[in-house]
Amino acid sequence: MTEQTSISRIFDILSMTSEAILRATSPEEVLLQTCSAAVQGGEFAAAAVFMAQTGSPLHYEAGAGKGADRLGRWQAPVDTNVERAPDLISIAFREMRPCIANDYANDERVRAWHEEGISIGIGAAIAMPIVQNGCATGVFLFLTPGVGLFDDKVVGLIERLLGNVAFALNRLEREAERAHVNRMISALSESNEAILRAETREKLFKLVCEAAIQGGRFTSIHIGLAEPESDFLRIAASVGPGAETFLSVPLATTVKHPGGRGLTGAAFRTQRPCISNDYLADQQVNDFHNVAQKTGSKSGAGLPLISRGAAVGAMLFVSAERNTFTPAFVELLERLAANLSFALENFDLADERKKAEDRIRYLATHDSLTDLPNRPMFEQLLSFSIKTATRYQRKCGVLFIDLDRFKIINDSLGHAVGDTLLIEVANRLRNSVRANDVVARLGGDEFMILLNEITESVQVAAITRDLLAVLSKPLKLCGHECRVTASIGVAMFPDDGADEQNLTKNADMAMYLAKTEGKNTVRFFSKELKTQSVDALIIESGLQYALDRNEFCLHYQPKLNVVTGQITGVEALLRWNNPEMGFLSPIQFISIAEETGLILPIGAWVLKTACMQNMAWQYEGGAPLSMAVNVSPRQFSDKNLLRDVDNALSLSGMAPELLQIEITESMLMLNVERAIQILDALQNLGVRIAIDDFGTGYSSMSAIKQFPIDTIKIDRSFISGLPQNAQDKGIAQAVISMSKVLGLTVIAEGVETKEQEGFLRGQACDEMQGFLFSKPVSADQMTALLQSPSRLLRAPNAAGLETIRSDKPKMYVQ
Ligand code: C2E
Ligand code: MG
Ligand code: MG
Repeated sequence: MTEQTSISRIFDILSMTSEAILRATSPEEVLLQTCSAAVQGGEFAAAAVFMAQTGSPLHYEAGAGKGADRLGRWQAPVDTNVERAPDLISIAFREMRPCIANDYANDERVRAWHEEGISIGIGAAIAMPIVQNGCATGVFLFLTPGVGLFDDKVVGLIERLLGNVAFALNRLEREAERAHVNRMISALSESNEAILRAETREKLFKLVCEAAIQGGRFTSIHIGLAEPESDFLRIAASVGPGAETFLSVPLATTVKHPGGRGLTGAAFRTQRPCISNDYLADQQVNDFHNVAQKTGSKSGAGLPLISRGAAVGAMLFVSAERNTFTPAFVELLERLAANLSFALENFDLADERKKAEDRIRYLATHDSLTDLPNRPMFEQLLSFSIKTATRYQRKCGVLFIDLDRFKIINDSLGHAVGDTLLIEVANRLRNSVRANDVVARLGGDEFMILLNEITESVQVAAITRDLLAVLSKPLKLCGHECRVTASIGVAMFPDDGADEQNLTKNADMAMYLAKTEGKNTVRFFSKELKTQSVDALIIESGLQYALDRNEFCLHYQPKLNVVTGQITGVEALLRWNNPEMGFLSPIQFISIAEETGLILPIGAWVLKTACMQNMAWQYEGGAPLSMAVNVSPRQFSDKNLLRDVDNALSLSGMAPELLQIEITESMLMLNVERAIQILDALQNLGVRIAIDDFGTGYSSMSAIKQFPIDTIKIDRSFISGLPQNAQDKGIAQAVISMSKVLGLTVIAEGVETKEQEGFLRGQACDEMQGFLFSKPVSADQMTALLQSPSRLLRAPNAAGLETIRSDKPKMYVQ
């Protein structure tokens, strides 16, 4: 073959390739067509192309001609950092210049392929770099049978050929990128639609990922969200074939964890896109190399998700191709991430708005102190329950609950303590009923409970008993152990009312009666109760004028020394002569007086009248008697108590030690320090103190020890069972012996039988009071009794003394 023919054949090859290149639709096709054209032209025995890939030797991409398939085995090491490979291809690639072996058989630089080359008759070889945008991207190897073919002219022609190839590759790459970007643009618009469509965050994440994966050859796309108190991102959505494998390294926000040292962590921290276009060659993502290899991922991009200036998460795109993340492409991803961030912000705003709306709705329907439903809400729920109960022919119970003596706690311990108590009560009530029952607070110390799905009213009775027990359990208020009780009124649907108004009103009425009947009790509404409650209303309205109209008087009940039988003193007991209802016992009106505050002027009147009466008896020649006066909780916590006591003493001129103030245990236990203060002050005046109704207030003898008191009055309820009831016996014995130890006087109240008297005598009880000796009597009757106790013995009824037992001489005037 002459030189001329070689040149013309190479010209032919050049034009053939140019044509082939024009037709080619992919880089692979360009390379293959170039090799085929070279061989078809007849000038070259074989042609092959090796392409660069970071981190690994140039790899065989395509070839044609003799032994081309075997050329495929030739992996040329080109990593200059590892080894300066001395072969033809590597040198051409590294130095970006043609590398020629015109004497193939004797050229060291083709040693790796020597034998094969010679066996197929190769005489010369040339390795030519493909240079795109100033960088070598691959190497063509052309082999000829003749020796010494490659002179400057031929090399010049081959350079032109490869210039065309590089141009074609560039064009195709640009086209590919344009197509890629176009795909991403349509993915972006789809994801924008998703942002508009999604009703929840979860749906949004899923739709965005699904849209984005259409935009490229991604192995996976992930959305990770930062979580409070956690270094790890919560994966909100993840798509693509490699998604699961990739996430075997959990994505994190800090470099402490391997999953935080990649593109996602960096994007989150810097709030900027972080790109790796050659993943396996990038040391920054070392910790992800393994999963990248497993999933065939070659490039990646991390994009931050930012809400109100702070990173809230990141997106990670992992591509199956290198160099996916061109600036144009990244710009699109940034827009995608920005849209997603915007949608997230909108969700946050909507959440906040909804929260505010919920809060407003909640505040309108709930009590802010206890978080319980309020009255309007309760009425709504009750009305709903009535409808359901009607449909299924069931009952429901409406409970009206009012705390006993709450005002005293509030007044004496302050409103903050009162609030704490209300919260505790609310919790106790809530925990005592089933989840489908409703506990509401109407205001103040009033609560309501709606008991649903009731078949029998006995069920309600059992629940109310439990409620009373739960409420009266001790609780700590300001470091004091206190007990509260409640009065409960019950109305049943449908028997006691057909609608919410009537049920509530009737439950309220029943509660009111529970209260007037001594508190800490439950009353069920009934028709008769209605009449009683009318009475209660008469009492309440009449009470305000009773003092001015002089309707009160005091009765007196004597206390006797157990040993001598002599009268040691009397207890003043209030009576009200109501113009409509006749004589009323304090049980019927004291609690109302207490609740309305009228007890304060009434109490002052009682103190003054009792002291004056006592002095009247003395002036009439009687021996000095002890006068016991009951003081109610409200009076005890009132700042004017001392003044009233002092007034009564100075007005009457009675010796202070003759006055005995009767208080109950619960008044002491409510606020121990304050009670001690008041008692000390009373004692300083010289007045005596007795604990009335002892045993009903749950306090122990040891608790009583801390108070400066003189006398214990054992409650009537323990005396009534004597001597048969073993428990009452035990309690009475214990109280008496403990009181002795503490140096206190013990009085037994409500002694009605000789057996009781006999038992108490045996226990060395100091004094006794009760119907066995005398009922409370008017001042005049008491005068007669004091002056002539023998009258009682002979004809108790003749003296009009309803109360006197006649079988034994009991009373003596000292
Ligand atoms: P209390 O201080 O424990 O008074 C004793 C009550 O027991 C009196 O009832 C008395 O009549 C009754 N009683 C006495 N002996 C017997 C008996 O053998 N058997 C029975 N079944 N009962 C007996 P009363 O007068 O109806 O007073 C009831 C309560 O009203 C008193 O209990 C006291 O807590 C209160 N009270 C009475 N007067 C006043 C007052 O002036 N001011 C205040 N704050 N409370 C008063
Ligand atoms: Mg009393
Ligand atoms: Mg008593």
